[in-house]
Amino acid sequence: MTGRDRPDPALVRGWCPGALRPMETGDGFLVRVRLPSGRLSAELAGELADLSRRYGNELIDLSQRANLQLRGVELENIAPLQERLAALGLVDRDEATEAVKNIVASPLSGLDPTAAIDGRALVEALETRLVEDTTLHALPAKFGFVVDEGGRLALDDVAVDVRLRGLPTADGPRVLIEIATAPAHWQPIAVEALDDVVDRAAALARAVITLRAGSADAPRRMWEIVKTAGLAAVFHAAGFGEKTAEIPTLPRARGAEAVLGDHTHAPGAFLGLGAPFGRFTADQLALLGDLAGERAIGEIRLTPWRAVLIPGVKPEKMPRIRPWIAAGRFVFSPEDPRLAVVCCSGSSGCRSASVPAREDGETLAPVARRLTRSGLTLHVSGCEKGCAHPGPALFTLTGRDGRYDLVRAGRPWDEPWMTGLTLEEAASALSDLAPL
Ligand code: SF4
Repeated sequence: MTGRDRPDPALVRGWCPGALRPMETGDGFLVRVRLPSGRLSAELAGELADLSRRYGNELIDLSQRANLQLRGVELENIAPLQERLAALGLVDRDEATEAVKNIVASPLSGLDPTAAIDGRALVEALETRLVEDTTLHALPAKFGFVVDEGGRLALDDVAVDVRLRGLPTADGPRVLIEIATAPAHWQPIAVEALDDVVDRAAALARAVITLRAGSADAPRRMWEIVKTAGLAAVFHAAGFGEKTAEIPTLPRARGAEAVLGDHTHAPGAFLGLGAPFGRFTADQLALLGDLAGERAIGEIRLTPWRAVLIPGVKPEKMPRIRPWIAAGRFVFSPEDPRLAVVCCSGSSGCRSASVPAREDGETLAPVARRLTRSGLTLHVSGCEKGCAHPGPALFTLTGRDGRYDLVRAGRPWDEPWMTGLTLEEAASALSDLAPL
């Protein structure tokens, strides 16, 4: 799509957006920038910050698949933004190519001495296959792969369809191929040599296309296809034999809590910096670029956990770096209560909002953290569209006419449990539910 073709918002819902397929949200169009292997150079961070200031609303999401999303782009700014992104090499040749390149890579790819494989070549080969084999362009839009090097950070919780995981064996490094039988629940399929993995992954992708039989209404995700067609049908269609037995592996770290903070003494030395409420401001993204360029090796690695890694920081540089981190208001501690909250820009950035969702989310963060010890607890949504978090949350506050409705275990548009709350009343209601 270009800036001249306004999509029907009803059709846009459920899209997997990209640079060529902006998605309309309550605060303007969202333009997703897919970065190969989740790697962002310091210079590119500065460029994207500039583009967000010029064409968007200066808010940049870090998506659950480790992409950046420029928010708040007006219709007339889509075409010039696409031109600038194309000049930076960030636009694919067509929408189908863009849509099929769904690969989440290990955030420490190539830097982690504990990894079983170096996944960079595998990611590149898989991406090339997905692009060049146009029969695979029939995959449903959100169908995705993970390439997990099997190192210190586990990509267990990323809701994609096929996982390729590095495995040390007595015969050398191998790759365990797994498919999702529920979101982020993995069924081992086969252990393969590195050279054979792309062919096997492509066979699985083709099996999905075959089992969907060209029906637009057919299940879109691997776990739905396993549920409807059965595991044996997937095996048969992909040409796999008997399934591989469960392979016990050592527990590995994962999630924001595992990467935030100073890891400059650990293998693959890095700093982990979180995006408050899942998004950076343009100024924060520019600051990350400066930090990576001036104090590290000029690279930023995106993770699917609302955090980025800056590899190559020397421990002795930390006293000079800490003031930058404080000035940027990044999430740097796993204890930071902002990790418990997701919120949209609210009335400070969106015409549909009647409440300052972002500011209120910050106020409510301490009580939200008390509700659970880790993970996301509270979604503060400026209105019932739920742009920041379309899924259910333990608690959701939905802005309505300047007050909040409180939903338990649901989405912003679900039946509320309480209605018409002021911020203070909402805080009190949540506080009453929190353990002392
Ligand atoms: S108020 Fe928030 S949820 Fe509603 S449209 Fe705006 S950004 Fe989306």
